[in-house]
Amino acid sequence: MGVIYQLDCENCGYQQKLFAGSGRLTIKQTMICTDCAEIVAVPTGLTGKRPPELIQQFAQEFNRCPKCKGVNLKEWPESHPCPKCGQAIDLGHITGAWD
Ligand SMILES: [Zn+2]
Ligand SMILES: [Zn+2]
Repeated sequence: MGVIYQLDCENCGYQQKLFAGSGRLTIKQTMICTDCAEIVAVPTGLTGKRPPELIQQFAQEFNRCPKCKGVNLKEWPESHPCPKCGQAIDLGHITGAWD
């Protein structure tokens, strides 16, 4: 089960729910979409061994921004910079779980 963080940039007020980890079916990786200037959870694959039909069904979503479907993604650095203003964001607390 993955967890959800509520991100809150103290500097510019940017807020985002961050889906981290892997759910029942998909593995998501936290990335920055440089087109949207948003932190997004990008599906990178399916958990476990899955039938090819299912993989096929999801394949077009892999490694794409879930908002704009673009591929201009980069890893969110360890310092957790805000995609809007660059200030480090405190991960804060876990607000929920996703599956
Ligand atoms: Zn900010
Ligand atoms: Zn995007």
